[in-house]
Amino acid sequence: MLTTPDVVTALSDEAQLNTIFARSPVGICIARNTIILNANAALLAMFGYEDVAQIRGRSLVDLVAPSARAALTERAQRRERGEIVPNVYEIIGMRQNGSTFPYIVAVDTIQLADGIASVAFCTDISDRKRAEDRLRFLAESSIVLASSLNYHETIRNVTTIIVPSLADWCTVDMRTPDGGSERVAVFHADPLKQHVLERIRTNYTLPPNAAMGYPAVIRTGRSILVPLVTLSELRQVALDQEHLELLVSLGVYSMVFVPISARGVTIGALTLGLSELRASYTSEDLAFAEELGRRVGQAVDNGRLYQEAQDAIALRDQFLMLAAHELRTPITSLMGYAQWLVRQQQAAEYMPTERERRATETIAFQAERLKLLVNTLLDVSRVEQGRLMVERTPLDLCALLRRMVDDVQTILHIHTVVGDLPANPVIVLGDVLRLEQVLQNLMQNAIKYSPRGGEVRVRLEATSTHARVAVTDQGIGIPEVAQERLFTRFFRAPNVADIGGLGLGLQLAKELIELHDGTIEVVSSEGQGSTFTVRLPLYSPPIEE
Ligand code: ADP
Repeated sequence: MLTTPDVVTALSDEAQLNTIFARSPVGICIARNTIILNANAALLAMFGYEDVAQIRGRSLVDLVAPSARAALTERAQRRERGEIVPNVYEIIGMRQNGSTFPYIVAVDTIQLADGIASVAFCTDISDRKRAEDRLRFLAESSIVLASSLNYHETIRNVTTIIVPSLADWCTVDMRTPDGGSERVAVFHADPLKQHVLERIRTNYTLPPNAAMGYPAVIRTGRSILVPLVTLSELRQVALDQEHLELLVSLGVYSMVFVPISARGVTIGALTLGLSELRASYTSEDLAFAEELGRRVGQAVDNGRLYQEAQDAIALRDQFLMLAAHELRTPITSLMGYAQWLVRQQQAAEYMPTERERRATETIAFQAERLKLLVNTLLDVSRVEQGRLMVERTPLDLCALLRRMVDDVQTILHIHTVVGDLPANPVIVLGDVLRLEQVLQNLMQNAIKYSPRGGEVRVRLEATSTHARVAVTDQGIGIPEVAQERLFTRFFRAPNVADIGGLGLGLQLAKELIELHDGTIEVVSSEGQGSTFTVRLPLYSPPIEE
């Protein structure tokens, strides 16, 4: 409240000070030896007194909560001993009616006509504290809400953060596709009353056109505040006598209903309820619950989107695997006939034209490629089902790599593949077909991702425990951001858009090498080339007794 300036200036100095004292929005209390001498109107209002006579002569201790009294006395004693004690501090106060609240007090000493007295300036900080608590609550709730992408878990987590800090019980109802709703969670702070909530959930669903409660919120997207629930309101909502009794036994005293919304659409409703023991909900509580409803909506929406993406991925995988299985039979027969044709043409009496010969070879070659692709897809499905297996026997990696390098050499034009292999055998325990598949994949990638040609070096080394195969190229390399995800399914680096591929080979390579107790890793710099290194344990034959 603003004072009219000319009124104050017209008064004497003392009268001016008295006016300021009386009108100060800060509570002021004057005391001597902790006995209250005087207090202004703001202080009386803050502590719930009507007249100064009600507190004059009482101890300052009466203005603080019992839990804070020992600290107050100790502070006074320290000050009397001449110690320096902070003169501004926070304390829990107690109103005349026994309710408590936080306030800040600044203490000073003044000289009065009849001696020294202390003066305390008190400011109620309940609102600030509440705002701080709510911000903290929202921050914590955001963490809890983000902790899971599982829709049901998110909802469950929500109820456990709301009860008991915001409500004694709460329920979550989500809109169903038919316009109705489904109660997905109920939670009461009192385990006995949890049963009541469960019974209501099982036996009673309010109709979607109900004028009150969660159906109305879901329908209109508008929140409802019922500061004090009356019996007649409960009667209006209850579907029968038993429902009414259950609602009454729940202790429905004050309620808020707020929408759970995501991307502007109401997807459900959050109901918070208080039992008789607390103060009723206010419009401030409602605004806070609305904010919570928005955050819950966002978390639920994230969970749903994630689930939809997972379902779409599962569907894609299922389709790919089905397609791969279905393709197997026609490809086998295509390959059989193509090879038969090639053999026919190779027979002495058969004289194919150049064009016929090329066509037959192309069919056989492409059928072989198709078979490899389909096998890769089937392998990926085996990985998914944990059915990818290897049959390991001792084998010489050196001989395997030498043959592979020689074979690939014959079909290359702008690339050279150089084998840097030791003279002695390097024996590992491996599945020859599977290891060949992995190394083939690395060599083919090295060639494929070096579109301008260059050297591909295949180096084999043996340490005392391991064999190490490094395939190095001088190709396009891999951007650093992509390297971490290179061995995951369907992942392709952003710089390979012009080069065909499925993004499956390296995932399979990693799975297969790990089945051999080995590791695979990459070192690369974009534009300069890559080195893929496979490490496999050396085979040590069992020692004969
Ligand atoms: P694909 O080659 O079919 O895309 P891979 O699983 O074999 O699938 O490889 C995954 C990705 O790793 C490739 O798309 C490419 O981005 C990157 N990559 C693999 N090998 C090389 C290489 N030698 N040089 C550059 N990039 C490579």
